[in-house]
Amino acid sequence: MAMREHQGSEIVQTEACEALSGLIADNAENTTRAGSAGAIEDLVVIMRRLAESKGVHEEACVALYNLTRNHAENTIRATTAGAVEATVVAMRCHLDHHTVQELTCMVLDGLVCNGAARTRAGNAGAVEAIVAAMRRHAQNERVQQIACLLVGAVIYNNAKNATRAGSAGVIEYIVVVKDTHLESETVQAWACQALHNPVIYDTANRARAGSSGAVEALVEAMHRHATSEAVQKDACRALHRLINSNAGNVVRARNAHAIEVLLAVVSRHAANEEVQVQAAATLYVFGEICLKGFQAGMPFGTFDRDVPLGVKLLKTVARHGNASMSTSQARRRNLLGVFVAAKSCVECGIRNARRSCIGCLDADSTKVRYCDQACQLIHWSHPAASHRVECGSHMVAHDESSSAAV
Ligand SMILES: [Zn+2]
Ligand SMILES: [Zn+2]
Repeated sequence: MAMREHQGSEIVQTEACEALSGLIADNAENTTRAGSAGAIEDLVVIMRRLAESKGVHEEACVALYNLTRNHAENTIRATTAGAVEATVVAMRCHLDHHTVQELTCMVLDGLVCNGAARTRAGNAGAVEAIVAAMRRHAQNERVQQIACLLVGAVIYNNAKNATRAGSAGVIEYIVVVKDTHLESETVQAWACQALHNPVIYDTANRARAGSSGAVEALVEAMHRHATSEAVQKDACRALHRLINSNAGNVVRARNAHAIEVLLAVVSRHAANEEVQVQAAATLYVFGEICLKGFQAGMPFGTFDRDVPLGVKLLKTVARHGNASMSTSQARRRNLLGVFVAAKSCVECGIRNARRSCIGCLDADSTKVRYCDQACQLIHWSHPAASHRVECGSHMVAHDESSSAAV
């Protein structure tokens, strides 16, 4: 009642919001009751009327957050009442206050769980407001974190908002954040997350990310935080999106040694299924490109001339993964199968190679073939895909042309 009768009074409203928060805090029954009594609509009216008051906004946001958090009915009620728009106005009016930015981001994050709210948020200028908050509070880790999560949420399944985010410079900003917080595992993990959604629906953003150095930043994060499962999973996921249908980013990733890093991730995090799924899915994209090169014969284009590394990649893709992977196991195995069927030399790629490693003779699908001893020797001590490691046997040459054992 007090909220309705004294809509113009800053002090009354601040105290009323505070009291409301106290009543509903962790009390589901009171939360529902307050929602039905029109508390949400009142809060929105207050936020609009006292847009200039920082104190009112802080308390109103806390109340709104408590009313809508994990409460579907109140979330819809708030969206219908214009809470999304009122929150964005608050973000804009109090850009300098990090507490208001934090609170408004938290409220919005709860509201944009449905498509209608995301559209309203986009139209109200939420994307630009979030990017402005990120820039203004660059040193505040909490603001960075919640803003990164929110920008992903607002863009989720909304192509228009993804385009808005691109134009607002979110990608360039995230790359800068990644570059300046290289050692912080948490910052790296959520920056990887934030890169994912802007590039998933928008090809222009994918190109933008590529030219801003996002690919190199992701590979660097994977390299630097090799033991962090969170960084590996989210970086792989974002990298997968960046190289999807973007030849420039594929070349960038290759030059940044993404394949070597991904192969290391697969073996280091063998026990973590989520990491395995993301890394193997990303490697599959490279595998398809490598195989095209193999099939085209030598030399096979500008992508890669490193056949041993390519074969190691094909084997890894065929071996790893599980039912939850988007690419079927049959398709992944087939990549290796095509290479094996061509009887290509594992070192130089030439087809119908007649020599093979005796230590691998019994491994039917992974028979290791060479055109001659020179190729075999080079493969044995390859820097990134040494057969010495994979074979595990002493090096004995086996010549098919002069042996009955084939
Ligand atoms: Zn060869
Ligand atoms: Zn061998």
